[in-house]
Amino acid sequence: MTRVLYPGSFDPMTKGHMNIVDQSINLFDNVVIAVMHNPNKRENMFTVEERVNMIKELYKDHPNVEVISSEGATVDVAIKNNCNAIVRGLRSLSDYDYEVQMNQFNKEISNNRVNTICLFADKEYQFVSSSMVKEIFSLNKDISRYVDSYVLNEMNKKKN
Ligand code: ADP
Repeated sequence: MTRVLYPGSFDPMTKGHMNIVDQSINLFDNVVIAVMHNPNKRENMFTVEERVNMIKELYKDHPNVEVISSEGATVDVAIKNNCNAIVRGLRSLSDYDYEVQMNQFNKEISNNRVNTICLFADKEYQFVSSSMVKEIFSLNKDISRYVDSYVLNEMNKKKN
């Protein structure tokens, strides 16, 4: 069984994230999406619980997708959830630089028990990030190309 962990902030989940989840569903038996508490990130639009519930709604028809929240070292979360690998999405060289470092670090602290698999974003999502989506949304511009209609609806509720 191939069971992978896809960790991130997902504040909120974008179509770019969903593109990586879709690729993972096709490649692996089980995908565990982990919404990570990050105390260093200041401005969140959604609480961790809200993000978990939104992602559960998005994948309610996919029995092979689990959604959890977690904190601490990602490798510990992977081991605790019996995941063979961590999945990350690559958009740009800056993502690559970061992921190369994280992969090395995660291998060391897990004694080579956890590998990282990087998947490439399809070209239409290459420039999509949660922070960009929030920025454009705050300017009252159309973001329906970047987030699922359900997520957009939840964002509108937050605004009102
Ligand atoms: P983090 O704060 O850990 O970067 P994010 O929620 O921003 O968490 O992203 C989680 C993962 O999804 C990261 O591997 C990130 O590179 C990837 N990702 C984010 N946006 C996209 C996108 N548009 N296309 C592909 N991968 C993406």
